[in-house]
Amino acid sequence: MSEAPKPVLIGEKPDVCELDRARLALMNPQIIEQKREERTFEETAKPFIELTMREGIETVWDRFEMQQPPCKFCAQGLSCARCAMGPCKIIPPNRIRGVCGADGDLIVARNLLDMIATGAAAHSDHGREIALTLYGLGMGTVSDYVISDPGKLRRLAAEYGIDTGKKDEKEVAAELGRSMLEEFGTLTDSLRLAGRAPAATREVWKNLGIAPRGIDREVVEAMHRVQMGVAADPTNTLVHGLRTSLSDGWGGSMIATEISDVLFGTPKPNESLVNVGVIKPAMVNIALHGHNPLLSEMIVRAAADPAMRALAEKHGATGINLVGLCCTGNELLMRKGIPNAGNHFNQELVITTGALEAMVVDYQCIFPSLPRTASCYHTHVISTSPKSKIPGSTYFAFEPETAYATAKAIVRMAVENFPNRKKDRVFVPVEPVKVMTGFSVEAIQGALGGTWKPLIDLIAAGTIRGAVGIVGCNNPKVKHDFGHVTLSKELIKRDILCVETGCAAIASGKAGLLQPSAASLAGPGLSGVCRSLGIPPVLHMGSCVDNARILHLAAELGNALNVGIHRLPLAGAAPEWYSQKAVSIGAYFVASGVYTVLGVMPKITGSPAVVSLLTEGLKGAVHASFAVEPDPLKAADLIAAHIERKRTELGI
Ligand code: SF4
Ligand code: SF4
Repeated sequence: MSEAPKPVLIGEKPDVCELDRARLALMNPQIIEQKREERTFEETAKPFIELTMREGIETVWDRFEMQQPPCKFCAQGLSCARCAMGPCKIIPPNRIRGVCGADGDLIVARNLLDMIATGAAAHSDHGREIALTLYGLGMGTVSDYVISDPGKLRRLAAEYGIDTGKKDEKEVAAELGRSMLEEFGTLTDSLRLAGRAPAATREVWKNLGIAPRGIDREVVEAMHRVQMGVAADPTNTLVHGLRTSLSDGWGGSMIATEISDVLFGTPKPNESLVNVGVIKPAMVNIALHGHNPLLSEMIVRAAADPAMRALAEKHGATGINLVGLCCTGNELLMRKGIPNAGNHFNQELVITTGALEAMVVDYQCIFPSLPRTASCYHTHVISTSPKSKIPGSTYFAFEPETAYATAKAIVRMAVENFPNRKKDRVFVPVEPVKVMTGFSVEAIQGALGGTWKPLIDLIAAGTIRGAVGIVGCNNPKVKHDFGHVTLSKELIKRDILCVETGCAAIASGKAGLLQPSAASLAGPGLSGVCRSLGIPPVLHMGSCVDNARILHLAAELGNALNVGIHRLPLAGAAPEWYSQKAVSIGAYFVASGVYTVLGVMPKITGSPAVVSLLTEGLKGAVHASFAVEPDPLKAADLIAAHIERKRTELGI
C-alpha cells in the first residue's frame, strides 16, 4: 500500500491582527445592514455577510473597498510593466507611448492576449493532469483510480483513431492517454477534438489562420508575442488570442472534461442541495474547493471508509459531511450528487459557519487569504498542489500515485480537528435549496431519445427560441449572483433555454432555478417542454472546463443541421466574470461563432481600436463578436434580439 505524504505547514499560521478585526467590527450597524443588502443577491448568504462585518472578519468585499479608487489607466488597460524599461502608462496628450514605443492600442492588445493565454494555460494544465492520470492508470503506475465509463473510453479512443479491437481497458487507457498528451505538443498542426466542430466552423478557422495547432504551442507563442519587441500590431496580436483560446476550449478543457467522465463517470441527472446550509453542525464538515476532480474524488472514497466514519464518531460527530465549492464542487455535484456550499464568493462565508473542520483546495479561484479567514476559527486550510502552496495552510503533496493514502490522511486530519470546534460559534441559520444537475451532452441526448431531432424540432417550431450558455464567476463589481440570476430568469421567461456552468450554475441553483418546478418561471413554450421531460429550464452542465460540453453541444446541433455554429440561434454570457479563464472561455465562444455578452467591462477601454475589433471587427472574421452590458435585463434584450436574428437567417 502506498504511503501518504507527510503534511507540511507552509510558513507560519496567520493570526488575524486584533486591530484589523476591531477596525472592521466598529462599523455602524446601519452601515452593516446597508452593506449586507448591497453585497449579495443571495438571501442565504446575507446572515454570514452580516456576521463577518459584526465580527470584523475580512472578506472579498472589504478588500475590494480598500482598493478603491482603482488606477484609471490600469482599469483601461493602458499600463504595462512587462519589461524593466517600464513600468509605463499611457496618459495623453504627452505620454502616448511606452519607453519601447508601444502605443495604447498595442499595450491593451498585449495585456488582453496575456489574459487569454493565462486562462488557457490554467484550463489546459488541469487537462494535462487528468490525461497523465489516465495514462498512468493504463501503464500501471497509477492504481487508485478506475475506468468508470468504459463505453466512453472506447468511443474516445475510436475518435482518436485507436484500434481498440482486442485491447483490454488498460491498454486502451494508455494509448488514449498518450494520444491526448501528445496533443499538447503535437507535430500534426491540428487537435483531434477540434474535429468535432462543424465543417463550416473549421473552414472559418482555416481561412483566418486560427485553427489550433497544439495546446502548449499556442500558449507559448502567446507568451512569446507579449515579450517586448515581438507583437506590434493589435489586430495580429488578438487574432492569436482567438487561436490560443481555441486550443483551450477544443483542446485542454475538452480533454479535462472527457477524461474526467471516463475516470469518474459521465454525469446523469441527479438531485442534491446547494448553499451554505449544506453544512451539518453535528458532523465533521470538509469543503472541497478548487477545480481538479482527481483529489476530490479520492476524498469522497476516503470519507466513506468505515474506519474514518468510526473515527468521526469516536470524536463525537455523527459522521463526515463533504461539501463542494466552486468548480470542484460542480464536478462532485454533477457526478456524485455531493451537496455544494456555494460559488466563488461563498468560499469565505462557509468558514464563518464555525463548523468547517477543513477546507481542502487544489488550485484556481482560491483566495490566498483563506488561512487568514480560517485563523478566526478552528478550520484547517489544506493545500495539495505543488503549484499552489498557500502560506498558512497545511500542505499535502498530492500525486495520483499516492492519491488514496493522501486523501485518507487529509480526512483523518479533518476528523481529528472536530473536538477543536467552538460550539458557541457554530452558525448555520439557513436551509439548503434542492437542485437537479448532471446534464452532460450524453444525458441531454439521452433525455431526447438518443437523437437531436426533438430539440431541433422544438427550436424550429419556436417552442424554444434558442439557447444561451451562461458561465463564469463572481466579481465584487457586481452584486453577488445578481447578474447570473436576473439574466437567467429573464431569458427563460422568453423561452430561451439556459445551459450553465461554473459559478453561474451555482448561482442559479441557490436561486431555485435548477429545479424542475422552476418551469413555472419560464415562458409557455419552454415551461411545457420542461414539464413534459421533468427537467429545469436552466440546465447545469458542470464546471468551467465543462464549457467544452457547451461547445460540444453546439457542434452536435451544427453537425445535425450541417451548418456552422455561428448560424445557430445560440449566445453566450458571462455576467459576473473575473478570471483570466473566463476571458479565454469568452474568446473561444466567439471564435467558435457564439455571440457573447459580458457583464463586466474588460480592461480594454483605453483602446477604441481594440473595443471596435472585439465588438464589430470580429463579425467579418468569425461571424460573432463580444458585447458588454452590465445591466442583465438589457443583456437579455441583446441576446434575445441576436437569437431572433439567427432564427430569421435560418428561415425558422
Ligand atoms: S514593454 Fe514597453 S510599454 Fe511595457 S514596460 Fe517595457 S517599455 Fe514600457
Ligand atoms: S466560474 Fe470563475 S470563479 Fe467560478 S470556479 Fe470558474 S473561474 Fe473560478
